[in-house]
Amino acid sequence: MTSLELPTHLSASSISTYEQCPLRYRFSRLDKIPEPTTQPMIMGSFVHEILEEFYALPPEERIIAEARTIARNLWENKFKEEVALIGIRTDQKVNDFRWSAWWCVENIFSMEDPTKVKIRGIEDKFSAEIDGVPLLGYIDRWIEEHDGSLTVADYKTGKVSKPQYEGDKVFQIILYVEMLERLNDIQVDNAEIMYVKFKERKKYAPTKERRRTVLKLINQTWDGVVKGCETGVFPTKTGPLCNWCAYKKICPAWS
Ligand code: SF4
Repeated sequence: MTSLELPTHLSASSISTYEQCPLRYRFSRLDKIPEPTTQPMIMGSFVHEILEEFYALPPEERIIAEARTIARNLWENKFKEEVALIGIRTDQKVNDFRWSAWWCVENIFSMEDPTKVKIRGIEDKFSAEIDGVPLLGYIDRWIEEHDGSLTVADYKTGKVSKPQYEGDKVFQIILYVEMLERLNDIQVDNAEIMYVKFKERKKYAPTKERRRTVLKLINQTWDGVVKGCETGVFPTKTGPLCNWCAYKKICPAWS
């Protein structure tokens, strides 16, 4: 029997990976076999970092010229090199990448008036236990609405998920609600996903049922990970997503 070291924590994304396929989780999170960096990953980081710096500005300074300056600086100091490393080098490709990222940022101005957004937290790191399960994550932002209610939000730079495929995103945002409430002893009234590429916001009330589903999944995943680490066995779960799995070449289900 091969035992593996237990991970120090779970996160929303590691729980989703485990849900998708326990073996993929093992390859990625325990064996730490690196997955290739993709263009959507870098795009997501670039846009998130621009918005993080932008919303950290005093409200009256949150104007489009400031967003442009932040984007330009982040590009020169960090992301220019990152995109070159994944082979985006020609002027055309670099321009396409930069414009796609910029449109995501510019769209924010049609989704809300940034000068009126009352920020309570940006990129807050949480590290805490729920039901004895260690969890770690970062909340893109949480804000106070005009009526004093609180909303936790997550930015997405990809496609707007159809309702039948949005389960992992809803799980993530409701988990953040739970964490924020437990760590700050507050009540969060709304959870929201902001699809900045498509100027679409989707709100999810943190109902008791959604919270129960989240807690159940956290516990189920942790039980599975503990058992897998004791036995070394992480079963495969094949499906259409195998076609996007970086480990397909070494996966016993496909050998
Ligand atoms: S190829 Fe499919 S079954 Fe194999 S590790 Fe990846 S997701 Fe799991």
